[in-house]
Amino acid sequence: MTVTVRVPAKVNVQLAVGAARPDGFHDLANVFLAVGLFDEVTATPSDELRITCEGPDAAEVPLDRTNLAARAALTLAERHGVPPAVHLHIAKDIPVAGGMAGGSADAAGALVACDALWGTGASYGELLDICAELGSDVPFSMVGGAALGTGRGDRLRPLAVGGVFHWVFAVADGGLSTPAVYREFDRLNEGVTVPEPAASQDLLDALAKGDAHALGATLANDLQPAALSLFPSLADTLAVGRAAGALGALVSGSGPTTAFLTADAESATTVASSLLASGTCRAVRVALGPVAGATMV
Ligand code: ATP
Repeated sequence: MTVTVRVPAKVNVQLAVGAARPDGFHDLANVFLAVGLFDEVTATPSDELRITCEGPDAAEVPLDRTNLAARAALTLAERHGVPPAVHLHIAKDIPVAGGMAGGSADAAGALVACDALWGTGASYGELLDICAELGSDVPFSMVGGAALGTGRGDRLRPLAVGGVFHWVFAVADGGLSTPAVYREFDRLNEGVTVPEPAASQDLLDALAKGDAHALGATLANDLQPAALSLFPSLADTLAVGRAAGALGALVSGSGPTTAFLTADAESATTVASSLLASGTCRAVRVALGPVAGATMV
């Protein structure tokens, strides 16, 4: 028996970040949108836990137990007292270390796939709890669509979306470590009173109406100054996309992928061509969002 689960990438249309808490984490108001770039996780019975990966960035993905998909399988196996005897193959299309939650997607995919393969029969709520244990972006990878994450970003409220949005993503040459970006955020905000993170009502209204122009005007990422400070050339990429007609542009999550919202498919093609021709990024991808979360195929 083999189980394959398809899991989307995400873009944060708003990422509001609070001050560092005493435990080092930050409270967030995180508006997630699942977009149509997918990893596929295939689970097959095996003598022992084994991870393989294919795709353009496969060389950068760890194949040991630090892989988030391996951690998901081990956590589920331990909870249900079953041996983690599974081969997980990851067909990776989500850029690695790009701020699009690729590792989180694989964790959610592995969890859903192993639950089906092993017949553990975990409830949806239990799977979501395990996701939250694995990382703050993992629950959203399972749920998909659009959602507001609060706390560390892992307490999710589904959001209504009144349309489908056309996105272009510019994949940067290199990665950014999420913890390093948060450290830079803390450094840049030393001595500053950082407001409590809150979702923008204008942005939520734009999503609900499916109004791309209004959404483009309200896109916001509090990590963007930190990502630009560590990766200054992203400012050039953002400028190229804006000049080519994007309704809004921002760094995706902790970066360094940049995201461009466009009015329609035609404008997405124009923005994508300009980005590619500019030489300010390594690759360009076009995707629609929202899309569903982890889905068995
Ligand atoms: P996020 O948007 O959630 O901050 P990201 O998209 O920036 O994450 P990932 O692609 O999830 O970053 O990977 C970050 C690091 O995690 C990688 O550099 C890699 O070392 C490690 N990693 C562990 N498991 C995986 C996985 N299944 N896929 C990709 N990277 C993984």
